[in-house]
Amino acid sequence: MNFDFTKASEACVKCVKCVPSCTIHKINSDEVTSPRGFLELVGAYQRGELELDKNAKDIFEKCFLCSTCVSICPTSLPTDLAIENVRHDIAEKFGITWFKKVYFFLLRHRGLMDFSFSFISVFLPVLFKINHETQSMKPRVSLPFIGKRVFPLLNRKSFLQRHKKEIKNSEESEKVALFVGCFSNYHYTKTADSLLEILKALKINVFIPPRQRCCGAPAFFTGDFKTVDMLIKQNVEYFETFIDDVEAIVVPEATCAAMIKEDWGRFMQEQPEWHERVTKITSKVFMASEWLYAKTDLLKYLKTLHMDDKINVTYHDPCHARKVLKIFKEPRALLAENYNLVEMSDPNQCCGFGGVTIQSEKFELSKKAAKSKVEMIKQTKAKIVSAECGACRMQLTNALDKNDTKVIFSHPLELIAEAIRNSKKS
Ligand code: SF4
Ligand code: SF4
Repeated sequence: MNFDFTKASEACVKCVKCVPSCTIHKINSDEVTSPRGFLELVGAYQRGELELDKNAKDIFEKCFLCSTCVSICPTSLPTDLAIENVRHDIAEKFGITWFKKVYFFLLRHRGLMDFSFSFISVFLPVLFKINHETQSMKPRVSLPFIGKRVFPLLNRKSFLQRHKKEIKNSEESEKVALFVGCFSNYHYTKTADSLLEILKALKINVFIPPRQRCCGAPAFFTGDFKTVDMLIKQNVEYFETFIDDVEAIVVPEATCAAMIKEDWGRFMQEQPEWHERVTKITSKVFMASEWLYAKTDLLKYLKTLHMDDKINVTYHDPCHARKVLKIFKEPRALLAENYNLVEMSDPNQCCGFGGVTIQSEKFELSKKAAKSKVEMIKQTKAKIVSAECGACRMQLTNALDKNDTKVIFSHPLELIAEAIRNSKKS
């Protein structure tokens, strides 16, 4: 991927519109860590006026890649894309930290990932308190590097290992494919199970492609473009074997959906043959709430359910859904049928997940970014916060725990499946 930073840098008119909403600038109010500061720096870097030294590396790694600036900028200047490209140069120059290398190696080798996670999960209860209801685990004592941070649960068997590939819910020949995403495959498996429950209620046949791979998002945001190239090509070659037999490929994770629909095409710009193949696939890819809302009778079905007391729920917009894919009304419309939706004061604010680097080497920034989000959630007095994204869930579950709130997190698909279940019982 070769992106001309200079054009974006020169096109910035320094109007400042993007600055007040920038996730990093809110917690580190320095011009260099603001969208227009980043654009100035990437321009200087491309003109050869800025050396990519440790200080520059540190600055570029502070961006949360939340795309808030792009969604606000009058000319949609792609600050996030520019930084993703610089991160590739950073990875080439400085190398990738060992634990990220191990993680990306496992992403490229799903069999080994399945085995390793299954093996590790056996020993986890020794060190962690497991909470199956919230699908999370918390260290029993403060551990080196991670303290008492709450992590997503690691299941002994992944979603893909537990399910057969064809699920027949009707006699019709139509079916949808499910791209599960790593969070829903290994950690928050109730999300993907809930999607299956909803599709069963709607009598829609499902194909669960067993050889699907990671979409490549964690490697993309870290600058490991070799891994991204490999994962996109492996997925595309595999998806081509069934794409004509399915109505759609449905994704219950905002980040994976945005990666596939937006970044796969951008990544393959300079490989025209692959770009064309990617485009054919991505035209059939949808985020789950988007597809269920627009292409099925789910909304009508939910209207027939009777809930005695509607629980207060607040919906958090994942950046990849709201700002990249422009999906925000669909999950709200589906949830509002059976839950009492309470809005937060600023639906645009990022939760502060930020990707692998922020979560590991710059976690202090992530904690600061989450603080105001937690305050917003508390102000709604909702019992549940919901978002269609495993990364937001990991971030918010930990932040809610650390800020002593009783609010719990649940994916919109889990809430919808629960409404269907409860209504059947009553
Ligand atoms: S992507 Fe987010 S954190 Fe990065 S510059 Fe834009 S608004 Fe700021
Ligand atoms: S909103 Fe766009 S043009 Fe204005 S300062 Fe930000 S990046 Fe530059």
